[in-house]
Amino acid sequence: MFKNLFRQEIGIDLGTANTLIYIGDQGVVLREPSVVAFDDQTHQILAVGEEARAMIGRTPKGVRAVRPMRDGVIADLQLAEEMLKTFINRATANNNLVMKHPDIAIGIPSGITSVEKKAIRDAAISSKAGQIYLPEEPMAAAIGASLPVAEPTGSMIVDIGGGTTEVAVISLSGIVVNESIRIAGDELNEAIIQYLKRVHSLAIGERTAEELKFRLGSAYKTVENDKFDVRGLNLINGLPRTVTVSRGEVREAISDPLNVIVEAVRRTLERTPPELAADIFNRGIVLTGGGALLQGIDELISNETEVPVFIAEDPLSCVAIGTGKMLTDPSFRRVLEQSLYK
Ligand code: ADP
Ligand code: MG
Repeated sequence: MFKNLFRQEIGIDLGTANTLIYIGDQGVVLREPSVVAFDDQTHQILAVGEEARAMIGRTPKGVRAVRPMRDGVIADLQLAEEMLKTFINRATANNNLVMKHPDIAIGIPSGITSVEKKAIRDAAISSKAGQIYLPEEPMAAAIGASLPVAEPTGSMIVDIGGGTTEVAVISLSGIVVNESIRIAGDELNEAIIQYLKRVHSLAIGERTAEELKFRLGSAYKTVENDKFDVRGLNLINGLPRTVTVSRGEVREAISDPLNVIVEAVRRTLERTPPELAADIFNRGIVLTGGGALLQGIDELISNETEVPVFIAEDPLSCVAIGTGKMLTDPSFRRVLEQSLYK
């Protein structure tokens, strides 16, 4: 049975690590890693999303599994377009939805070029979209985190994703100051890889580094000092080996990239007009994106800035929920109009 929806709106978070799709009336209906696997010779696409992610670091000759959005913006335009089309089809087909020229809002990093914007727009057009909106990610994240973006008060959002960290101060439906840096979750993984290489002569892959971050990662000193066994290759003799790594070691490994993130927050606060800065000191900073789930990240930022810090509810979904709310809730009309792609 196909459902005809009353609302015809699709909100999309096209993230460097994960893509989420929100459909009006239904909420978030798809969450998949932003990964595409393809044949190197023919360029035929072999898998998209979760299935492609499982292939990272495990592909045979001739097959590549890549993240088309990897470096914050778009590393591979054509693959990004194909991936987006596949996800939109999957989200509607899996839910038996009939969508007639839905309006689509896609959150985009604030540092994106006009060529990249156009490519994202083209992907949406090929999915037979009605109006296309390209709101900036920090605005979508703030709406998804229920911050009062339309009011004459300063709200600060820090979205730590896979490829980029976006810091923005919002007031009266607009971004007042912002900064986008290409240091986020991926760099924490990379720092763990480098640490194990340097200190334990152990080579590990990206996925193992991320797992170590999930299990033992922390930004701030904790009383726990649990350990985790990591398997990799001994760089000295090339043989498999297990090394026991402690929580303290992982914290040390990721401290440099974390400090870069803290500095971006501090710089943005310094550039914030005084009235808005006072609002932020009173109301606090809100963290979104997967990086907000790193243990102690709120304490670290709060200690370094002397501003209270809160983690949004369901930080991984804020951008998707924000794009969806923007399309369906008339109180965000101004934000929506400003993000219309013409
Ligand atoms: P993007 O918007 O770039 O797609 P996401 O907001 O989906 O990124 O966040 C993905 C990032 O969050 C990844 O780098 C991932 O490792 C990190 N992440 C997710 N969960 C956790 C966790 N529990 N602890 C630390 N980092 C996490
Ligand atoms: Mg994101």
